[in-house]
Amino acid sequence: MVLVALLLAVWGGLLWYRGRALQEAAGLPRGQVVAADTGPWRPVSAPLISRRHGLIGRPDYLVRVREGGREYHIPVEVKSGLAPPEPYPGHILQLAAYCLLVEDVHRVRPPYGILHYRDRTLHIPFTDVLRQQVLDTAAALRAARRAPEVHRSHRDPARCRACGYRRACGDQALAP
Ligand code: SF4
Repeated sequence: MVLVALLLAVWGGLLWYRGRALQEAAGLPRGQVVAADTGPWRPVSAPLISRRHGLIGRPDYLVRVREGGREYHIPVEVKSGLAPPEPYPGHILQLAAYCLLVEDVHRVRPPYGILHYRDRTLHIPFTDVLRQQVLDTAAALRAARRAPEVHRSHRDPARCRACGYRRACGDQALAP
Protein backbone atom coordinates (compact mmCIF):
# COMPACT_ATOMS: atom_id res chain seq x y z
CA MET A 1 0.00 0.00 0.00
CA VAL A 2 1.55 3.30 -1.04
CA LEU A 3 0.99 6.19 1.32
CA VAL A 4 0.11 9.41 -0.40
CA ALA A 5 2.33 11.28 2.02
CA LEU A 6 5.27 9.21 0.86
CA LEU A 7 4.23 9.72 -2.70
CA LEU A 8 4.41 13.45 -2.13
CA ALA A 9 7.77 13.38 -0.44
CA VAL A 10 9.37 11.49 -3.28
CA TRP A 11 7.51 13.14 -6.10
CA GLY A 12 8.16 16.59 -4.66
CA GLY A 13 11.83 15.74 -4.50
CA LEU A 14 11.81 14.59 -8.09
CA LEU A 15 10.23 17.75 -9.43
CA TRP A 16 11.14 20.49 -6.99
CA TYR A 17 14.05 21.92 -8.94
CA ARG A 18 12.75 21.41 -12.42
CA GLY A 19 10.16 24.14 -12.22
CA ARG A 20 7.62 25.49 -14.52
CA ALA A 21 9.16 24.30 -17.78
CA LEU A 22 8.81 20.72 -16.66
CA GLN A 23 5.36 21.42 -15.32
CA GLU A 24 4.33 22.54 -18.78
CA ALA A 25 6.17 19.71 -20.49
CA ALA A 26 4.53 17.20 -18.19
CA GLY A 27 1.13 18.63 -19.07
CA LEU A 28 0.24 19.40 -15.47
CA PRO A 29 -2.64 21.84 -15.39
CA ARG A 30 -2.06 25.21 -13.72
CA GLY A 31 -5.53 25.56 -12.30
CA GLN A 32 -8.21 28.15 -12.56
CA VAL A 33 -8.97 30.63 -9.80
CA VAL A 34 -12.51 30.25 -8.49
CA ALA A 35 -14.65 31.55 -5.66
CA ALA A 36 -14.43 29.30 -2.62
CA ASP A 37 -18.19 28.99 -2.21
CA THR A 38 -18.57 25.78 -4.22
CA GLY A 39 -20.93 24.30 -1.66
CA PRO A 40 -20.66 22.80 1.79
CA TRP A 41 -17.24 21.26 2.33
CA ARG A 42 -17.57 18.06 4.33
CA PRO A 43 -14.51 17.05 6.36
CA VAL A 44 -13.30 13.56 5.51
CA SER A 45 -13.07 11.43 8.63
CA ALA A 46 -11.73 8.14 7.25
CA PRO A 47 -9.02 7.59 4.67
CA LEU A 48 -10.01 6.66 1.13
CA ILE A 49 -8.50 3.35 0.09
CA SER A 50 -7.93 2.01 -3.39
CA ARG A 51 -6.64 -1.55 -3.44
CA ARG A 52 -6.70 -1.51 -7.22
CA HIS A 53 -4.20 1.33 -7.38
CA GLY A 54 -2.42 0.63 -4.09
CA LEU A 55 -3.22 4.07 -2.73
CA ILE A 56 -4.54 5.40 0.51
CA GLY A 57 -5.10 9.03 1.46
CA ARG A 58 -7.46 11.49 3.01
CA PRO A 59 -8.30 14.81 1.40
CA ASP A 60 -9.17 17.61 3.80
CA TYR A 61 -12.71 17.88 2.46
CA LEU A 62 -15.07 16.48 -0.10
CA VAL A 63 -17.65 18.68 -1.73
CA ARG A 64 -20.60 17.29 -3.61
CA VAL A 65 -21.44 19.19 -6.78
CA ARG A 66 -23.96 18.68 -9.54
CA GLU A 67 -22.72 19.62 -12.98
CA GLY A 68 -24.09 18.70 -16.39
CA GLY A 69 -26.79 16.61 -14.75
CA ARG A 70 -24.28 14.45 -12.85
CA GLU A 71 -23.20 14.43 -9.27
CA TYR A 72 -19.53 14.44 -8.38
CA HIS A 73 -17.48 14.24 -5.21
CA ILE A 74 -14.71 16.80 -5.48
CA PRO A 75 -11.66 16.49 -3.21
CA VAL A 76 -10.39 19.65 -1.54
CA GLU A 77 -6.83 20.04 -0.29
CA VAL A 78 -6.25 22.97 2.04
CA LYS A 79 -2.83 24.64 2.20
CA SER A 80 -2.18 27.01 5.04
CA GLY A 81 0.23 29.22 3.08
CA LEU A 82 -0.28 31.84 0.41
CA ALA A 83 -0.68 30.57 -3.11
CA PRO A 84 2.55 30.33 -5.12
CA PRO A 85 2.54 31.99 -8.56
CA GLU A 86 1.86 28.53 -10.00
CA PRO A 87 0.76 25.60 -7.84
CA TYR A 88 3.68 23.31 -7.05
CA PRO A 89 3.72 20.02 -8.95
CA GLY A 90 3.72 18.20 -5.60
CA HIS A 91 0.49 19.94 -4.58
CA ILE A 92 -1.12 19.06 -7.91
CA LEU A 93 0.01 15.45 -7.69
CA GLN A 94 -1.31 15.12 -4.16
CA LEU A 95 -4.69 16.48 -5.22
CA ALA A 96 -4.69 14.25 -8.31
CA ALA A 97 -4.01 11.21 -6.10
CA TYR A 98 -7.12 12.16 -4.11
CA CYS A 99 -9.08 12.49 -7.37
CA LEU A 100 -8.01 8.96 -8.32
CA LEU A 101 -9.02 7.67 -4.90
CA VAL A 102 -12.41 9.37 -5.17
CA GLU A 103 -12.87 7.89 -8.64
CA ASP A 104 -12.20 4.40 -7.34
CA VAL A 105 -14.20 4.69 -4.13
CA HIS A 106 -17.25 6.55 -5.52
CA ARG A 107 -17.07 5.01 -9.02
CA VAL A 108 -17.35 8.42 -10.66
CA ARG A 109 -14.32 10.31 -11.89
CA PRO A 110 -14.23 13.86 -10.55
CA PRO A 111 -13.59 16.37 -13.35
CA TYR A 112 -11.35 18.45 -11.10
CA GLY A 113 -10.05 18.88 -7.59
CA ILE A 114 -9.78 22.01 -5.48
CA LEU A 115 -6.56 23.46 -4.07
CA HIS A 116 -7.44 25.98 -1.38
CA TYR A 117 -4.63 28.34 -0.36
CA ARG A 118 -4.94 31.08 2.24
CA ASP A 119 -5.51 33.72 -0.43
CA ARG A 120 -6.69 31.79 -3.47
CA THR A 121 -8.76 28.78 -4.47
CA LEU A 122 -7.93 26.88 -7.63
CA HIS A 123 -9.75 24.29 -9.69
CA ILE A 124 -7.23 21.76 -10.98
CA PRO A 125 -8.65 19.77 -13.90
CA PHE A 126 -8.20 16.02 -13.43
CA THR A 127 -7.03 15.40 -16.97
CA ASP A 128 -6.05 12.07 -18.53
CA VAL A 129 -2.42 13.22 -18.48
CA LEU A 130 -2.56 14.09 -14.82
CA ARG A 131 -4.28 10.81 -13.97
CA GLN A 132 -1.54 8.92 -15.78
CA GLN A 133 1.10 10.92 -13.87
CA VAL A 134 -0.40 9.70 -10.61
CA LEU A 135 -0.43 6.09 -11.80
CA ASP A 136 3.18 6.36 -13.02
CA THR A 137 4.30 7.94 -9.76
CA ALA A 138 2.60 5.26 -7.69
CA ALA A 139 4.28 2.57 -9.83
CA ALA A 140 7.68 4.28 -9.41
CA LEU A 141 7.17 4.37 -5.66
CA ARG A 142 6.26 0.71 -5.52
CA ALA A 143 9.46 -0.05 -7.43
CA ALA A 144 11.45 2.20 -5.09
CA ARG A 145 10.04 0.39 -2.07
CA ARG A 146 11.41 -2.88 -3.42
CA ALA A 147 14.83 -1.36 -4.13
CA PRO A 148 17.54 -2.08 -1.55
CA GLU A 149 18.50 1.60 -1.44
CA VAL A 150 16.79 4.84 -2.51
CA HIS A 151 18.84 8.01 -2.82
CA ARG A 152 17.83 11.57 -2.06
CA SER A 153 16.72 13.43 -5.20
CA HIS A 154 17.37 17.04 -4.13
CA ARG A 155 19.84 19.31 -2.30
CA ASP A 156 17.51 21.35 -0.18
CA PRO A 157 18.17 21.15 3.58
CA ALA A 158 14.93 23.02 4.29
CA ARG A 159 12.95 20.22 2.70
CA CYS A 160 14.67 17.66 4.90
CA ARG A 161 14.14 19.79 8.02
CA ALA A 162 10.40 19.87 7.31
CA CYS A 163 10.20 16.20 6.30
CA GLY A 164 8.46 13.64 8.49
CA TYR A 165 10.73 10.85 7.19
CA ARG A 166 13.95 12.54 8.30
CA ARG A 167 14.75 10.13 11.09
CA ALA A 168 14.35 7.13 8.85
CA CYS A 169 16.49 8.68 6.15
CA GLY A 170 19.90 8.28 7.79
CA ASP A 171 22.80 9.72 5.81
CA GLN A 172 20.52 10.85 3.02
CA ALA A 173 18.86 13.56 5.10
CA LEU A 174 20.42 17.03 4.81
CA ALA A 175 19.32 18.11 8.26
CA PRO A 176 20.01 16.54 11.67
S1 SF4 B 1 14.64 13.61 4.95
FE1 SF4 B 1 15.17 14.69 3.07
S2 SF4 B 1 16.01 13.09 1.73
FE2 SF4 B 1 14.88 12.05 3.36
S3 SF4 B 1 12.82 11.70 2.51
FE3 SF4 B 1 12.81 13.62 3.69
S4 SF4 B 1 13.18 15.22 2.15
FE4 SF4 B 1 13.81 13.27 1.22
